[in-house]
Amino acid sequence: MQFDELNLLPHLLDALKELEYTTPTPIQEQSIPSLLQGKDLFGCAQTGTGKTAAFALPILQHLDPDGQVKGKRPIRCLVLAPTRELANQINDSFKSYGKHSKLRSMVIFGGVNQNKQVNQLNAGIDILVATPGRLLDLMNQGHIQLSKITHFVLDEADRMLDMGFIHDIKKILPRLPKNKQNIFFSATISPTIMELAGTILFDPVNVRVTPVSSTAEIVEQFVYYVEKADKRNFLKQLIKTENISHAIVFTRTKHGADRVARELTKSGLKAEAIHGDKSQNARERALAGFKNRTVSFLIATDIASRGIDIDLLEYVINFEIPEVAETYVHRIGRTGRAGASGIAYTLCSSEEKAYLKAIQKLINQQIPERTLKKA
Ligand code: AMP
Repeated sequence: MQFDELNLLPHLLDALKELEYTTPTPIQEQSIPSLLQGKDLFGCAQTGTGKTAAFALPILQHLDPDGQVKGKRPIRCLVLAPTRELANQINDSFKSYGKHSKLRSMVIFGGVNQNKQVNQLNAGIDILVATPGRLLDLMNQGHIQLSKITHFVLDEADRMLDMGFIHDIKKILPRLPKNKQNIFFSATISPTIMELAGTILFDPVNVRVTPVSSTAEIVEQFVYYVEKADKRNFLKQLIKTENISHAIVFTRTKHGADRVARELTKSGLKAEAIHGDKSQNARERALAGFKNRTVSFLIATDIASRGIDIDLLEYVINFEIPEVAETYVHRIGRTGRAGASGIAYTLCSSEEKAYLKAIQKLINQQIPERTLKKA
């Protein structure tokens, strides 16, 4: 199937051509027709599947400004995302897919001064991408009215719950109009997720792609058994002997991320840590540096890294093993995007063996063990 078989407006097809998207991804192929018909949607998909375009394109098409109201534009689409990075990326996607439309989108999140956001809101926007806390803040201060919303997206619902946003979401939901199109995405499904979806969606279409256990198949994976105290030295050796020039390194804690970044920097490697204690500016700078390859190693915690979209990432290194097995699949899913293959190395200490076992069970494969080649 090609994009031009999906009944999208010509200006959207033009934007997609300019981005060199030729064929829709499975989530796009399955979601776009139903969304164009105005149906609610429950999507089980993770970042990297193309889910943003799957909801953004039909929304841009519905909001196309022909015959738009005169005067200040009301916000008609609200997208809630758990992290600033993801919110930024969604906003960027709306801007690039909607570049030939006159629709305006913007993003708001906490941790930065609100004045600029308020000024931009006052100018009138069509699409608002927000993290829940800052949205509630600005709603409570009277800067945001949601009574004209026609499209509502809750993205990465599972992560929202993990991050404790449920109370904020429950305060936001009743302030939205009843009659609207609702789109709900989650990478994983649990009874709590189904319950939340049930309070938002009306007779939804269900779409599910790349079950979490199968993304692992295109990524080459290896495990090295290394004790905790030896890991930092080991990492440096690994980078050297495997000739790794660009990788995300995952740690379990913010503190750990800082320590690994410091250690790599000390040995002359260009490394930056990215986690929730860093300022928004520092995180964006690190990410931009990593994308343009002036930074070789991005040391990240899971929450900070969620939603980061980096094309052509060849290596993921699990400095520590995540406690939740699905997280491993999210981490390694950052390589091997859009059909590219990637390599994931995992350093496993004796205390982490149980986590490794759970991961192997989830992905239904044994991760082969490796030992370090002599430099
Ligand atoms: P997402 O899952 O929405 O975060 O998208 C993951 C990445 O895939 C982003 O870099 C998108 O720009 C890219 N992408 C989305 N749809 C397509 C497509 N149909 N063809 C090629 N790349 C795509």
